Amino acid sequence: MEFLAKRRVTRPLFIGSVQIGGDAPVSVQSMTTTRTANVSETTVQIQQLARAGCEIVRVTVNTREAANALPAIKAASPIPIIADIHFDHTLALMAIENGVDGLRINPGNIGSKEKVHEVVQAAKGRRVPIRIGINAGSLERDLLHKYGRTPEAMVESALKHISLLEKEGFDLIKVSLKASDVARTVTAYRLLAQKVPYPLHIGITEAGTRFSGTIRSAIGLGILLSEGIGDTMRVSLSADPVEEVKVAYAILRDLGLRRRGVELISCPTCGRAEIDVISLATRIEQRLSAVKTPLKVAVMGCVVNGPGEAAEADVGVAGGKHKGLLFKKGEIIRRLPADNLEEPLLDEIRALTGETIP
Ligand code: SF4
Repeated sequence: MEFLAKRRVTRPLFIGSVQIGGDAPVSVQSMTTTRTANVSETTVQIQQLARAGCEIVRVTVNTREAANALPAIKAASPIPIIADIHFDHTLALMAIENGVDGLRINPGNIGSKEKVHEVVQAAKGRRVPIRIGINAGSLERDLLHKYGRTPEAMVESALKHISLLEKEGFDLIKVSLKASDVARTVTAYRLLAQKVPYPLHIGITEAGTRFSGTIRSAIGLGILLSEGIGDTMRVSLSADPVEEVKVAYAILRDLGLRRRGVELISCPTCGRAEIDVISLATRIEQRLSAVKTPLKVAVMGCVVNGPGEAAEADVGVAGGKHKGLLFKKGEIIRRLPADNLEEPLLDEIRALTGETIP
């Protein structure tokens, strides 16, 4: 029996050079936390995100200064930029003019028909896709009255915005339906997935801190991805956005959907442990956080069971009372002093990946 359901068939589109939907891998997005008008800070953060594997980045465009900063940000960014805009159609027009690769805007909130027409035609002219971003926290009053703050209200809101774009002959559409809890988010995406062919941007909004947000996102996005729903994703955390990217890849990797960077296998330790696995594993994970090559690395607490228990690891160490072991695919390749496991392991990983490890 297949572990994952067949991926939902969606109509592909491109954000810059990154395909979303169709047969493209699920892409990883994040959002900057800087003031967009501050070009240097925004650019530094985008570069950090890109180094962590972020493939598309969203910046808020909430002022004219932010919109005016877009050409410089775009020029310095190694990844496509999406402008996040609320209500103000002039900012959307400026963002398109200034070369953004995608917009996040809800056409129903732009105002008059003429304004919607102007923005959508400008997006169409430059082939700039639009993401409709429905948030359970900001639903239209009539829908709240009819359904309450429910998945049905979220889906109906999305369909209303979608029809405004379709009426303009625009189909470069992707949609997100975010709530801050798993149940409503998952239900809303399931409902919409049956109704439209557009790619879905999945995420749990306001998911929480690094700890609780990681768990909530892993459950919610894990359920959706396992059902074949989701073409691009953002993990939202009250943390450095680089953490969002790391968590997104961990979710995708554990589902077998993407492989990037080091997957650390470490034992929970037990009475047999001869070394401090917790601090060694934490240090090694930190030092390997920038490695791009997919690799399974093990840190195990004892030489008796360690190499066998971590036999699927590409490379690993196991600590003994006086001597430790370096092993590859379960085979012992070197015996080491127990207090010197870290550097030989990192040397081996440098040799395997050809990457620089600090
Ligand atoms: S590898 Fe050794 S120390 Fe770690 S959990 Fe297994 S038996 Fe215990």
